[in-house]
Amino acid sequence: MLRRIVFPLTILLGAPALVGFLWRTVSGAAPRDLVLELWAKPTPQAAATVAAFLIFELALWGLLPGRTCAGPLTPSGSRVVYKMNGLAAWAVTHLLLIAASFGFHWFSLAGIYHQLGPILTVCTMLGWALAVFAYARGRWFASGADAAEHRGFLYDFAWGVELHPRLFGLDLKHFLITRFGMMSWSVILLVCAARQHERDGFLSDSLWIAVGLQLLYIVKFFYWESGYLGTLDLSHDRFGFYLAWGSVAWMPYIYPLSTQYLVTHRTRLGPAEAAALAMVGAAAILANYSADRQRQRVRETSGRCTVHGKPPALIPATYRTADGRVHQNLLLASGWWGVARHSNYLMEIVAALAWTIPCGFAQPAPYTYVLFLTGLLIHRALRDDERCLRKYGSAWLEYRGRVPYRIMPGVF
Ligand code: NDP
Repeated sequence: MLRRIVFPLTILLGAPALVGFLWRTVSGAAPRDLVLELWAKPTPQAAATVAAFLIFELALWGLLPGRTCAGPLTPSGSRVVYKMNGLAAWAVTHLLLIAASFGFHWFSLAGIYHQLGPILTVCTMLGWALAVFAYARGRWFASGADAAEHRGFLYDFAWGVELHPRLFGLDLKHFLITRFGMMSWSVILLVCAARQHERDGFLSDSLWIAVGLQLLYIVKFFYWESGYLGTLDLSHDRFGFYLAWGSVAWMPYIYPLSTQYLVTHRTRLGPAEAAALAMVGAAAILANYSADRQRQRVRETSGRCTVHGKPPALIPATYRTADGRVHQNLLLASGWWGVARHSNYLMEIVAALAWTIPCGFAQPAPYTYVLFLTGLLIHRALRDDERCLRKYGSAWLEYRGRVPYRIMPGVF
């Protein structure tokens, strides 16, 4: 009942209302508007902007060269292949936007800031349309052997049915998360910076730190795109409202929220605090990358590599796919993966805190992303534990014995 009805219903009804409420709060809306107009009215101009962005990113995905990479084995024993050109797409998107706005004056990045309300409402509507499409496809036209059994309408609608849905060769999960969610987050950061510069004639130190750290994180994400194929989002989570609406609406609303707050609320850090946040944030982002990369490299090289300068401590693990075949995998028990079973999550949270603290502590709204991320990653660590125990059995128990903490040594 809780898993099949209450949680899905809470997410389906609560998340769209929450994004509207938070965005209006951060934008400084009067309390009356919060009740009367939770979401800004969509406009044809906003719809055209979202459509242009979507078509442009689709074109970059199709046209830019990129090597192909295979994801991990699916539960049915097959492999999905992806085109990796995310970093090039990020660079082209940003260079073109900056040149078109500041060089050729074709349009104004700062001007988009005033359209963000309607644009985000259009994103919400697009997210719903994609969620309905994901459900209909999964329920009646599911492709591949990895589609889930029917588990009730609400559950299937919220969490999805298909594992790797494709449309004309495009992997929908990969495209929407990376080229819509992550890319729009990055573009909205640019828009916020352009708006502050237009209004004040300079960028505050808080905005420099917040935007600089987030861009570093996003570039790191695209640089590590092949590693992203082995994450829970892509290899385990199904394509339903959670991922479809989540990447098209939740991400552009919630991920840059703290930076939007910095535009509407002027805050200053001072050189010492700015330097400290920049160092802690950058170190956390690099450590997060290092942890993710260690796991990827150990598997790619079958353990023939070094981790923190030493041969890795490895636990061989076997698992069975649905076709009955038995496969081998390696669990790394040293380096970051010997500190805690998900120390990458701790670094992720520290980095997010570092780019949010410039907002100060006057209001809780800018901390929404940090709170959401902390909850999401704690829940993920728990469900990953369950999943890995089911998959690897005694090898996972041995790993848990050697590395007892999930995220933070001594605490959790
Ligand atoms: P992990 O990168 O921690 O991957 C977990 C998977 O890795 C497990 O399911 C298992 O998969 C494998 N694994 C587990 N333990 C080991 C080990 N000791 N050695 C080798 N492989 C192991 O989780 P996520 O996919 O959740 O996260 C990936 C990155 O994305 C992280 O940096 C995370 O912080 C970030 N992230 C960011 C979010 C955001 O919104 N900003 C949200 C979620 C994640 P297998 O079946 O292959 O063995």
